[in-house]
Amino acid sequence: MKTLEEYIALAAKSHGHMCPGQILGIRMAMLGLRSIGIDDPVVARKRLLTFVEIDRCATDAVSVVTGCRLGKRSLKFLDYGKVAATFVDLETGRAVRVAAREDARAKAKAMFSAMSDASRAQLEAYKVMETDDLFDLRAVRVKLKPEDMPGRPRSRVTCAQCGEGVNDGRELRLGDRILCRSCAGEPYYEVVTSAEEDSGFRIQDSGH
Ligand SMILES: [Zn+2]
Ligand SMILES: [Zn+2]
Repeated sequence: MKTLEEYIALAAKSHGHMCPGQILGIRMAMLGLRSIGIDDPVVARKRLLTFVEIDRCATDAVSVVTGCRLGKRSLKFLDYGKVAATFVDLETGRAVRVAAREDARAKAKAMFSAMSDASRAQLEAYKVMETDDLFDLRAVRVKLKPEDMPGRPRSRVTCAQCGEGVNDGRELRLGDRILCRSCAGEPYYEVVTSAEEDSGFRIQDSGH
C-alpha cells in the first residue's frame, strides 16, 4: 500500500483538485483494505470489490486507492447519500463497512480553528485525526449475486420492444416478453420530440 501523501498526489490528479472529501475517501479505503487483510490493492485487485454509498468527492478517492472501477464491475455505486464504503475480499469473504462519523466534521473544524480557510482547515485535520474520530468500522457480510460479479457477462438478451441488448440479467419478464427496464415501465428519460428540440429544450431540474 502507498502512503497517505502518495495517494493524495494521485487522487488530486485523478479528481482535478484536492478537497476534504478526498482525504476522507483515501483514509477510508486504506483503513477498509487493511481491516480485511489486504495490504497491496494492486496485487489483490482481482479479489477486491468495493461498494460506495455516495457520488461525491470521497468516492473518486476510494477508487484511486482500491483500484476498483465502475467499468470493471469492481466498484458498485449505491445511491444512499452517505460518505461510507464497504470493502470485500472475494477470496476470503471478509468484508468491512467504513462510515465517516457524523461528528468528524465538527471535530476537524475545532482542530484548526485558527485557520482562516475553513475547507483547508478541515482537509488538514482529516489528514491527522485519529481513525476512531473519523470513522465507524463494522465487519459485515455482503450477499453477492453471480450476475453482479466482475468478469464476462453472464447473460445477454435483446429487449422485445426497443431491440437493445441487456446484459447480466437486468431484463424483466412481462408475461412471455423479455423487456429492458426502460420499456418495462422504469425509464429515467423521455425522448425529446423534434418540435421540442426546435423550441430550445434544455435539461430540466425536477424541482425538488
Ligand atoms: Zn472534491
Ligand atoms: Zn427496451
